[in-house]
Amino acid sequence: MRKVSSWGRLSADLHHVEVLSNPCSVASQVGRGPHLGIAHGMGRSYGDVALNREGTLWMTTGLDHFMAFDAVCGRLVCEAGVLLRDIQKMALPRGWMLPVTPGTQLVTVGGAIANDVHGKNHHVLGSFGDHVQSLTLVRTDGELIHCGPDVRADWFAATVGGLGLTGVITQAEIQLRKVAGPWLDTETIAYADLDAFFGLADGSEAGWEHTVSWIDCIAGGGGRGLFMRANPADPGPLPEPGGRKLSMPVVPPVSLVNRLTLRPFNMSYFHLNKWRAKRALAHYEPFFYPLDNVQAWNRMYGPKGFFQYQSVVPRDIGQDAVQAMLKEIARSGDGSFLAVLKTFGDRQPVGMLSFPQPGVTLALDFPNNGSRTHRLLERLDAIVREARGRIYPAKDARMPRELFEAGYPRLSEFMKYRDPKISSDLSRRLMGA
Ligand SMILES: Cc1cc2nc3c(=O)[nH]c(=O)nc-3n(C[C@H](O)[C@H](O)[C@H](O)COP(=O)(O)OP(=O)(O)OC[C@H]3O[C@@H](n4cnc5c(N)ncnc54)[C@H](O)[C@@H]3O)c2cc1C
Repeated sequence: MRKVSSWGRLSADLHHVEVLSNPCSVASQVGRGPHLGIAHGMGRSYGDVALNREGTLWMTTGLDHFMAFDAVCGRLVCEAGVLLRDIQKMALPRGWMLPVTPGTQLVTVGGAIANDVHGKNHHVLGSFGDHVQSLTLVRTDGELIHCGPDVRADWFAATVGGLGLTGVITQAEIQLRKVAGPWLDTETIAYADLDAFFGLADGSEAGWEHTVSWIDCIAGGGGRGLFMRANPADPGPLPEPGGRKLSMPVVPPVSLVNRLTLRPFNMSYFHLNKWRAKRALAHYEPFFYPLDNVQAWNRMYGPKGFFQYQSVVPRDIGQDAVQAMLKEIARSGDGSFLAVLKTFGDRQPVGMLSFPQPGVTLALDFPNNGSRTHRLLERLDAIVREARGRIYPAKDARMPRELFEAGYPRLSEFMKYRDPKISSDLSRRLMGA
């Protein structure tokens, strides 16, 4: 048995770990053995989507080759274990970048497709799957399926956002976007409440490609925060910032994020950044991936780990629902430091189970305080359910099955594409197998 942990520090004993490193042998590797398996990339998902208690994990980071790059039209073909960080490093000097990236670049292409990840520019460029031109899927019976938006489109729609349950993705073709360089023209604006947040979000939609906000979720139901927006910039050649990587060297015996530390921390974070708020030129790395500079930051939550809770609710009811969630959190006293509020654009998702949908999304980290935390999350579930929203499986370790079924109306259509020898802790919890 071998232990593997998710990013929220949920751990599972596995029966077997199989390292995939050659696309030609993936079919024979995933087809053998009595145990059900699931692909595992960088393990940056917070909950149990890439865990498989007492089963097999197929580790994909060995599938790490670039296969072709057309620097004229920005088309990249690579294996599915390539990291988004390595794509950015390869493509930027050639004038290209990934069009959509999540808040960490330490994820694999396969993981980004299987969760159909979103970035700060959903209202302009959609999610990761919108830029995948084709992919190769290996089924455990040895069948290879080559699919894309126009080729076997049903398989493509099942696999993008398909939580690794339709097969193992071995390679993908991605359309990059042209950029002048690594710089962004950014602006940070402090806001006092949710009315101001929605005003800023609406007002920025047409003129700003990237928008996101940090929200102080324990200052009361008001919802003050810091709104950040950015556009690609072309300041000409500038030296790249250096910067030392920090690291959380040990797991503290208790969570450093707790009732005592959170209020003063949130207050100083808000006031310091309000004071500094301005327009500035920024390198893409600190703007897109602020936490990548602190290695193993998830250790700060201590041995019991933490839950991430990310929901999206439709825009018409979004403000009331977010207000209600903030009130519940403030009342519980168990706030979150990493609290992100942003709007999604009015676009239909690519995948049958893709998370992004038009509306407003709130993402929060809560230290795991056992039943107290579960009770709070159940109260948040009730608000999401009433608002006809959904929860992000990439972040989840505990949502009730009926909430998943209500939030993902294409689930029964998706089930036809599942591979019978693939299963995860999440699929057993939410789909029964
Ligand atoms: C600091 C931080 C910030 C984040 N910010 C965002 C954000 O802004 N937006 C967002 O959408 N997400 C965000 N995430 C979540 C993260 O982007 C996703 O969980 C992503 O899918 C992780 O990729 P991974 O390579 O670590 O995959 P894993 O976590 O290992 O696996 C994720 C899923 O992909 C499947 N999978 C992996 N490889 C393959 C393959 N080759 N074939 C088939 N299935 C495969 C797995 O089975 C699993 O279902 C963030 C995570 C962190 C830690």
